[in-house]
Amino acid sequence: MKQKPPTFASKLVSSALIALFWFQSVNVFGWGNEGHEYVNRVAAEKIPAEMPRFFRHAVAELSYLGPEPDRWRSPSEYALKNAQEPDHYIDLERVAWLDPLPPGRYEFYRKLYEKRAATAAADHPDDYLPEHVGLQPYITMEIFGRLKAAFREYRHLREVHQPTAPVEHAIVFYAGWLGHYVADGSQPLHTTIHYNGWVGPNPKGYTTEHGIHAKFESTYLAQNITAKDFAKFVHTPERLANPFADYVKYLRDSNRQVENVYAIEKAGGFNGKGSAEAFDFTTHRLAAGSQMLLDFWYTAWLDSATSTEFAPGSTAAPPIK
Ligand SMILES: [Zn+2]
Repeated sequence: MKQKPPTFASKLVSSALIALFWFQSVNVFGWGNEGHEYVNRVAAEKIPAEMPRFFRHAVAELSYLGPEPDRWRSPSEYALKNAQEPDHYIDLERVAWLDPLPPGRYEFYRKLYEKRAATAAADHPDDYLPEHVGLQPYITMEIFGRLKAAFREYRHLREVHQPTAPVEHAIVFYAGWLGHYVADGSQPLHTTIHYNGWVGPNPKGYTTEHGIHAKFESTYLAQNITAKDFAKFVHTPERLANPFADYVKYLRDSNRQVENVYAIEKAGGFNGKGSAEAFDFTTHRLAAGSQMLLDFWYTAWLDSATSTEFAPGSTAAPPIK
């Protein structure tokens, strides 16, 4: 059926509704603008001298890119919003049976669809749809891969004395974009089914209202914490021996902190100026995000010097479709 063209008044109302919805969704997801900028900036300010100078000088760009994927959530870009929303989280409780997580996105999808097919209708099989479980570690590793490939190209262009400015722009973009998801991973509520109110058995009486997520990561943080409050907890980077396994461990560590968020909220720790416990907890979570991001950047740089073109064990180039 063809729709009638909208009147001016209905256009006005729908624009207002879109703006309101967008504003609300931005406020419900991510560390909030401030948290994402801080995590990227603190990591950028600790880039070691052995990494390229252009990268160490990109603090402003890297900070700006921290919230970038949250700018992709407007209904006015529906396909984009729809495609990338599951990238921001993973409900680890839903995949407790899948350890270790498979290293590739499509292997993960296959396991989830098998689980869904084997789940009785009464047990909510759609909970196992990939877009309901979330794809956090996969988007993170995919951007890490892009960054490593770009650093490899940068090294090559320098070797052959070609201009490097274009690849430098690509590197800064990938590195900043990566920071968004790594920071999301340090926010415990991005790793859990309890992402915005406790669900299921609740013997300790934690809040079930859909307000704790934004209260913690946006309202409380914006009013009480700055980058310098946690920069001191971030040290020189370490090379990750196994980036995917190390990142999943980081997400599991974050998931173990979920109950702390609820306990602090229950004690009123995120109200107004907040409690000392809330400050300590939040600054250490943000620092964990910056540290992981810095370790990823450093590892991508070092690994780009030695990484082979093909998967380990393969001898020939895979066919390209
Ligand atoms: Zn996010």
